[in-house]
Amino acid sequence: MNEATKTQGPYDYDLIVIGGGSGGLAASKEAASHGKKVMVLDYVAPTPRGTAWGLGGTCVNVGCIPKKLMHQAALLHQSLDDARTFGWTFDEKVRHEWSTLTEAIQNYIGSLNWGYKVSLRENAITYENANGEFVGPHKIKTTNKKGKEAFHTAETFILATGERPRYLGIAGDKEYCITSDDLFSLPYCPGKTLVVGASYVALECAGFLAGLGLDVTVMVRSILLRGFDQQLANMIGDHMESHGVKFLRQFVPSKIEELEAGTPGKVKVTAQSTVGSETFEGEYNTVLLAIGRDACTKNIGLDKVGVKVNERSGCIPVDDNEQTNVPYIYAIGDILDGKLQLTPVAIQAGRLLAKRLYGGSTVQCDYVNVPTTVFTPLEYGACGLSEEAALEKYGDGNVEVYHSYYWPLEWTVPSRDNNKCYAKIVCNKQDHERVIGFHVLGPNAGEITQGFGVAMKCGMTKEQLDSTIGIHPVCAEIFTTLTVTKQSGANAEVTGC
Ligand code: FAD
Ligand code: NDP
Repeated sequence: MNEATKTQGPYDYDLIVIGGGSGGLAASKEAASHGKKVMVLDYVAPTPRGTAWGLGGTCVNVGCIPKKLMHQAALLHQSLDDARTFGWTFDEKVRHEWSTLTEAIQNYIGSLNWGYKVSLRENAITYENANGEFVGPHKIKTTNKKGKEAFHTAETFILATGERPRYLGIAGDKEYCITSDDLFSLPYCPGKTLVVGASYVALECAGFLAGLGLDVTVMVRSILLRGFDQQLANMIGDHMESHGVKFLRQFVPSKIEELEAGTPGKVKVTAQSTVGSETFEGEYNTVLLAIGRDACTKNIGLDKVGVKVNERSGCIPVDDNEQTNVPYIYAIGDILDGKLQLTPVAIQAGRLLAKRLYGGSTVQCDYVNVPTTVFTPLEYGACGLSEEAALEKYGDGNVEVYHSYYWPLEWTVPSRDNNKCYAKIVCNKQDHERVIGFHVLGPNAGEITQGFGVAMKCGMTKEQLDSTIGIHPVCAEIFTTLTVTKQSGANAEVTGC
C-alpha cells in the first residue's frame, strides 16, 4: 500500500495528540501513564512579526504565565508608592526597564519549555516539533520547520490545536500592529500604546502596560468584558480610567499607517465611530490588537476525515465525552464550540478524556461553575452567573443579590481606592438562596475566588456563608457578612471600620 494512503490498523500509535499546549500535554501524559503508545505534535507558526516560541502552548508562552508576571510587575509599581506611606524611604528615581522584565520572563518560560520536553521523554511519549494534518482516516502527515514530511497512523486522535490572535483585516494591520503573541517577548518597550479590543486580553494588557508607566488607550467597539457581569466590568473600566488609562469608546480602526520605522516606531491609526460618522486619528508607538482569537482548525485536514466544524466560529462541536462526529477523533481546549477557553479547563478535559479512554473511568469534565479571574489592575474573580444572566434565567422575583463595597486594610494607610473593591453574590431564592453567581473585585481576587469556586461546587447557600466565621482582617471575610440586598436600595459603601 502507498505510504500516503495507508490507514488500516495496526497503527503506529495508540494515540496521536495534535497540539502540545495545556490540553494536549495533559491528555498525552495521562494516556502514557496507562501504558499507551503516544505521540504529541506541537508546532508554532511564527506571527507576521516572526515571533515564535517553544513547547507548552499559549498559556505558558504567550498567555497566562507571562501575562500574570507582567501584571505582578505593574502591581509592584503601585506597591512602591504604598511603601513610602509605610515608612520606607528610597531616593532613587523609580524607572522601569522593559528589557529586564522580558528577559526574566523569557528565561522562566525557557525553563518551563525544557521541563515539558523532559517530562514527555520521561513518560516515553514521542514528541515532534512538527505541524500535523490529516491526510486520510487514522492518518496524519507531519511537516517540520525544515519542510521534512513524515506520515503516522493512530487508533485514536485528540485535537488540541488552540487558537491564535485575530487580525482586523484592514490596511496595515499585519505590517504595523502586534498581538499578545508578540508582546511578552517584544525586544523593546512598546511606548505609547493603543490597545484595540475590550475583553480579557485587551484589558489585562492595557492594565499592566499602564501600570508600568506607559501612556495607554483602549479602543472599545461596544462594551467591556462581554459575557461578564456588566456592573463589575464597568467598575474595572472606571478604576483603570481613574488610574490613567484612556478609553476611546465605540470606535473601530479602519487604517493603520507607518509614520516612522523604529523600535518602537510610530504609526497613525484612523478609526471610525460605530454609532455615527465621526472619524478619529491618533499617533502611537505600538498598536496591540486584542480583538479575539481564531481556532486553529482550518489547515489540519479535517475535511479529509469528515470532522464537523462550526462554520461561523471555526470551533469544533463535541459531545459530553469530547468526541467529535468522527468516533476516533476527540477535541479539547480552546477549539471546542461553546466551552470556556481557560487553561485549567483544557487540562481537566484532557486528563479526564484520557482516563476515560484508557483508565476505565466514566468521569466527564464539568464545564459548569468554572471559576475565573480577569487580571486587570483591580482583579476581578467570578464564578457562576452574572447578575444579568441570572435575572434572565430565573426571572426578576426569584433572584436576590447581596453586595458590599470594601476597603482592603492594606490600602487604608496609603489612602487609596476607597470604595473601589466590591463583593457581590447572586442567589436563587427558589433554591434555599443557593449562590449561583459569585463576583469579587479587589486584590488577589483569583486567590479568593478559587476557594469559593470549591464551595459553589458543593452547593454553597447564603445561609452557609452567614454561618461561616470570617478571617480577620482579610478581604474575603466580606462574603461572610453580606447583609445589604440590592433590592433594598440600602447603601453598600464602606462607611467605617
Ligand atoms: P494551546 O495552549 O493554545 O495549545 C495549542 C498548541 O497546538 C499550540 O502550541 C499550537 O502552536 C499547537 N498547534 C496548533 N496547530 C497545530 C498543528 N496543526 N500541528 C501541531 N501543533 C499545532 N487562561 C487561564 O486559565 N488563565 C489566564 O490567566 C489566561 N490568560 C491568558 C492570556 C492571554 C494573553 C491569552 C491569549 C490566553 C490566556 N488564557 C488564560 C487562555 C489559555 O491560554 C488557553 O485557554 C489555553 O492555553 C488553551 O489550551 P489548549 O491546549 O486548548 O491550546
Ligand atoms: P474575546 O473574543 O473574549 O474578546 C474580543 C474583544 O475584541 C471584544 O471586546 C470584542 O468586542 C473586540 N473586537 C472583536 N472584533 C473587533 C474589531 N473588529 N474591532 C474592534 N474590536 C473588536 O477575546 P480575547 O482575546 O480577549 O480572549 C479570548 C479568550 O481567552 C477568552 O474568552 C478567555 O477565555 C481566554 N483568556 C483568559 C484570560 C484569563 O483567564 N485571565 C485572559 C485572557 C484570555 P465586542 O464585545 O464588541 O464583540
